[in-house]
Amino acid sequence: MTHIITSLCLRDNGCSDVCPVESINAGTPVEEFPTYYIDASTCIDCGACVPECPFHAIYPEDEVPAAYKAIGGELINEVGLAGEYNGKSHHGETVALSTTRALATGEVVDLRKAIQENRRFYS
Ligand code: SF4
Repeated sequence: MTHIITSLCLRDNGCSDVCPVESINAGTPVEEFPTYYIDASTCIDCGACVPECPFHAIYPEDEVPAAYKAIGGELINEVGLAGEYNGKSHHGETVALSTTRALATGEVVDLRKAIQENRRFYS
């Protein structure tokens, strides 16, 4: 199995700092791959990245929510969305994204498409 970074990712980068096998990389080009991604061929499923994510974006593959219920106000980050996000990474570097959308309170979204996107990035 592997862990999966979902579209709740806003490129904080703290996850890649703690990964013991360097399985986590920033998507590039950002317009096509707007989040970070985990290489399923090297991930050892240790779970160290999960608590590092301030956006709670990382799940074991078999626990990625098909029906994620939004708290309200959190952003999803996917190709095809047009909302702006300007923030800071774990290291204080500027993060500027143009592929986000704020979720409404109680809105339900399927985060499982991230499974294929993680694999596509490394294919
Ligand atoms: S679960 Fe462990 S090995 Fe896999 S990406 Fe996260 S930190 Fe790296």
